[in-house]
Amino acid sequence: MHVVVLGAGVVGITTAYYLTEHGHTVTVVDRADDFASGASGGNGGQLSYSFTDAVASPALLSKLPWLVGGGDSAFRVRPPISDLPVCWGWAFLQQCTAQHSSENTLAVLEMALRSSALMTELQTKVALKFSFRQAGKLVLLNSYAEIQAAKKSCAVKRQHGSDVRVVTLEQAIDIEPVLTYIQTSAAAAIYSKSDSVGDANSFTSQLGKWLAAQHAVDIRLNTAVHRIILATVNFIPSKLTMEPSAQMQWLYAWAPGAKKSSSPCVSRQTSIRYVAIA
Ligand SMILES: Cc1cc2nc3c(=O)[nH]c(=O)nc-3n(C[C@H](O)[C@H](O)[C@H](O)COP(=O)(O)OP(=O)(O)OC[C@H]3O[C@@H](n4cnc5c(N)ncnc54)[C@H](O)[C@@H]3O)c2cc1C
Repeated sequence: MHVVVLGAGVVGITTAYYLTEHGHTVTVVDRADDFASGASGGNGGQLSYSFTDAVASPALLSKLPWLVGGGDSAFRVRPPISDLPVCWGWAFLQQCTAQHSSENTLAVLEMALRSSALMTELQTKVALKFSFRQAGKLVLLNSYAEIQAAKKSCAVKRQHGSDVRVVTLEQAIDIEPVLTYIQTSAAAAIYSKSDSVGDANSFTSQLGKWLAAQHAVDIRLNTAVHRIILATVNFIPSKLTMEPSAQMQWLYAWAPGAKKSSSPCVSRQTSIRYVAIA
């Protein structure tokens, strides 16, 4: 199948990598003039496989008025609020129960541990230099309540394959001696030895270039997608190599000036028209 991936960030490029591994033909489009021009180009570089705690939790509910009121700079609600954020917000609030929070944390942990294994495997197949290092990660804990909650959460995560644990401040200083010079009220820390760091910008652009060179992935930069139409169309057996009873969902996307095609199977030269999700 020919799949069009929207976005040449770390998610788009790794998606392209696994699609090619499964034998698909891939085109990647991005409006920017280089790889990793969005969040993938400027992030913290942490591969935090153990810190998977769900944001939606009972603790967050009590902080909500403070957050919506602008108390945390990382969280912003901008008017006008359309239907989409309202629906999303309602779904998010429904996940703020203790049970959902715990289920979501473990679901993300499972995905994180799988990601960790895939990262190791990918590096055996593609030689990438992106300052990858298994540096470990420490998160300081300031209150008795935080320490108790962390002990509980770490115990559950360890049962599910994570190496995360609570250490005393003295143990944390042994792990990272620079803490000696930092004034802190912390009495303990969460520590995961397997957490890593890496430069997402280098990773993304090297993998993108490797895909273009080794797997003929068609990378189209400077190509903006202005509209996406989601439609379900009946499968046409003579034109596609899928099971006759299958249906495909097509995401129609096009660049400025492109004419709409009558057939979802036809791709025009200058713009990306169709994204198929089987
Ligand atoms: C400040 C900060 C720190 C972070 N720290 C960490 C961290 O330490 N560890 C971690 O794991 N994660 C971190 N993250 C999150 C992480 O960076 C993102 O989850 C990740 O980069 C998302 O990758 P992406 O490919 O989905 O998005 P992006 O990298 O944003 O890529 C999206 C791409 O889509 C393109 N695009 C968008 N719209 C269109 C359009 N209409 N037409 C064509 N192209 C389009 C954009 O140009 C962009 O290149 C951090 C994020 C931020 C903002």
